[in-house]
Amino acid sequence: MTTPNSVRNVGCTVVGGGIHGTYLAQRLLEDAPFDGSDVRIVDPNDRLLASFREKAAACGMDALRSTFVHHVGTEPFGLESFAEANDREDELVPTVDYPPRPSLELFLDHAEYVIDRKDLDSLHRQAVVTGIVGLPDATGLRLETTAGPIETGRCVLAIGHGGRYRWPGWTDGLDGVEHVWDDFDPDASVDRTVVVGGGITAAQLACELSETQSVTLLSRRPIEWEVSEADPPWINWSHIEETLHVHTPGSSDRFDVVSDARNTATVPPYLYAEFEDRTDEGTLTLTQGAVESATVEDGSVRLSLDHGLELFGDRVVLATGFEPVFDHPFVDRVADELGLARGYRGMPILDDDTLAWEHEGGRFVPLYVSGALSLGTVGPYAPNVPGARRAGDRITAALARRSYRSEADGTNEPVSGPGVSD
Ligand SMILES: Cc1cc2nc3c(=O)[nH]c(=O)nc-3n(C[C@H](O)[C@H](O)[C@H](O)COP(=O)(O)OP(=O)(O)OC[C@H]3O[C@@H](n4cnc5c(N)ncnc54)[C@H](O)[C@@H]3O)c2cc1C
Repeated sequence: MTTPNSVRNVGCTVVGGGIHGTYLAQRLLEDAPFDGSDVRIVDPNDRLLASFREKAAACGMDALRSTFVHHVGTEPFGLESFAEANDREDELVPTVDYPPRPSLELFLDHAEYVIDRKDLDSLHRQAVVTGIVGLPDATGLRLETTAGPIETGRCVLAIGHGGRYRWPGWTDGLDGVEHVWDDFDPDASVDRTVVVGGGITAAQLACELSETQSVTLLSRRPIEWEVSEADPPWINWSHIEETLHVHTPGSSDRFDVVSDARNTATVPPYLYAEFEDRTDEGTLTLTQGAVESATVEDGSVRLSLDHGLELFGDRVVLATGFEPVFDHPFVDRVADELGLARGYRGMPILDDDTLAWEHEGGRFVPLYVSGALSLGTVGPYAPNVPGARRAGDRITAALARRSYRSEADGTNEPVSGPGVSD
């Protein structure tokens, strides 16, 4: 990893070095006509995948929910081969009615192997991208970053949920409330913790903390289990085309189909069983309800719930997820600057075949989207590990086609944007 160059034109810049950005960068080196000097990954963390590592560690996760064929390498069975070659098959965790899942350590060690083999660290520039504008000479985009501008022929946004965590209104100005992904210390010495949330992170965290202290999980709904984030057919592109792409891009219909298909706020069966064991043992209590108000008295947080009960904790930890990425200020800025088309709730309108973000005036902008931001096109698995491959297949094929065409024509690709000619 190095700090950014000053202005220099690179073939493709990936914004975000998480699972999607890392997957895409290695696919670009394989499938699109780029070598290492043509690809950049811009991410503020000191290493690729840092954000995923930190989140997994914070909630005490020890194995993935997704199966062993979903990882950051290209070959579906690459992680399995890596496990076999390193005598680590026992880290492919058997799962009832589902293929095995990799341990977190195996998943990350395999990711590190992919990163090393393709020397992806050398492509990483440590910075935040603050804006994207069209280049006046119609040859690409200019990324404004906290460490200087980068000019690029094409760009892929792989910013995940954008790092804005959801803090409910009742937490305003209150000490003693933390968010699990915001510098939370799971090892802090306390006796009673209240975890707020109803999904996999909340349940995982509650189980982990209940090994050393008394924990109450406060959830609005009963805890429900589902094996995966959505029904498995949603992994297949043909199913996505038949079920999602039949609706108008950016429409509320698309949003509703994806929302219904996602098993939001559910926990997988193995975690559900652990959760039940902990509640039977008495170290973990589940309370259903919503917080109406909260106060801090003598170092203890008191939560008053809608049905009249009160909960007390030495600390309250939120596992309440992210703010929506569709109306993230960075996304707003990029869309406004480049004149990009948006639909229901600010959903980016992408080309269903290439995942290029469409221009309001119908012109071409070399900006592609992967991850949570592509939900309306890639479907319910878009934010997850399987979504990286689905997006990567389309984006790398599109970039290869365009480069082949412009090489054959001897032309530059047109880039649109305010003050930019077609
Ligand atoms: C604890 C945990 C466990 C999970 N387990 C699974 C699982 O088993 N299976 C599964 O399929 N999914 C799982 N998920 C979902 C998981 O989040 C996604 O699969 C994956 O992390 C999403 O990757 P991403 O690259 O889109 O986002 P992220 O991992 O969030 O990476 C996005 C990166 O973009 C960077 N970034 C954002 N904005 C900018 C900017 N303006 N400039 C530069 N960089 C920027 C961020 O710093 C970050 O590093 C899990 C999630 C969590 C939190």
